[in-house]
Amino acid sequence: MKGSFLSFLITAGLLLACGSDPTEQSATAATPADSIAQPAPSPPPPAGRDTSDLERQLIAQGLVDIHQLDTSIRLDMRYSTPNNFLKEDVYGDFDRCYLQPAVAERLAQAQAYLEAEHPDLRLIVFDCVRPRSVQYQMWDIVKGTDQQDYVAPPGGTGSMHNYGAAVDLGLWQLDTGLVDMGTPFDFFGPLAQPRYETDFLRSGELTAAQVQHRHILRLSMKAAGFHGILSEWWHFVGFPRDTVKRRFQIVE
Ligand SMILES: [Zn+2]
Repeated sequence: MKGSFLSFLITAGLLLACGSDPTEQSATAATPADSIAQPAPSPPPPAGRDTSDLERQLIAQGLVDIHQLDTSIRLDMRYSTPNNFLKEDVYGDFDRCYLQPAVAERLAQAQAYLEAEHPDLRLIVFDCVRPRSVQYQMWDIVKGTDQQDYVAPPGGTGSMHNYGAAVDLGLWQLDTGLVDMGTPFDFFGPLAQPRYETDFLRSGELTAAQVQHRHILRLSMKAAGFHGILSEWWHFVGFPRDTVKRRFQIVE
C-alpha cells in the first residue's frame, strides 16, 4: 500500500485511537448482558503500600485492582512512565491496573484460559481505567500538535477506558519477555490494525508468527467475553458498548 491510500488508512486509524472504533468485533453473542456477575467490591489495598489520591478515588468508586484477582498478570503501565507516545507520565505515582469488578473477573478468566493453552505465556497490561481527568491531561499535551488525532477529545461520550471497562494489553513469554506482535503498543498506523492483518501477512510486512501471537491474545480475550476492535491489536472491552454505558459510570 502506498500514496494516498496509505494516507487514508493512517488517517482512519488515528481518528479511531484507543477504543473509539464503532466496529467492535462481536465475540460474545452467547453472553447475555443481564447475566453479568458483579463480584464484591475491592478490599482496601495491602497495608504498607502507598495509595495515591487517584487510587483512593478508584476504590471509592468500586473499582478493583486486577492483582487482587490474579497476580500472574504482568503490569507495564505505560502512561505512568514517559515510555508512551506522549513521552510524559500522566498518572504520577499511580501505576496499578484498576477495572470494574466484572471486567477484572473477565480479565482473570482470560489469563486462566491463556495459561491453560500456553503455560509459558502471561498477559501483560499497558493501560486499564483511565479517568476522564487523565484524558483531559493527555488532550492538553497533544492539542495543536501533530499527535492531536491520537487522543479522543475528552468532551464526548467517553472512551471505554474512562468507564474502567477497557484494557490495553499484550503477551509476555516467561523466558524471552515481551512477545512480538508486529508493532509496539500505541503504534498508530495500519500495521497495528487487525483489519489489515491478512494484507500485511501477504505483503510480508507482518510475519506468520506475529499474526499468530495476535490470534492467541484475541482467542484468550474472546474466551473470557471481551470484544476486540479493528483498529488496535491491544485494545479490548469487557462488554458491548451499550452495556458498558448502561451499567457503569465514567470515572472522573
Ligand atoms: Zn485502549
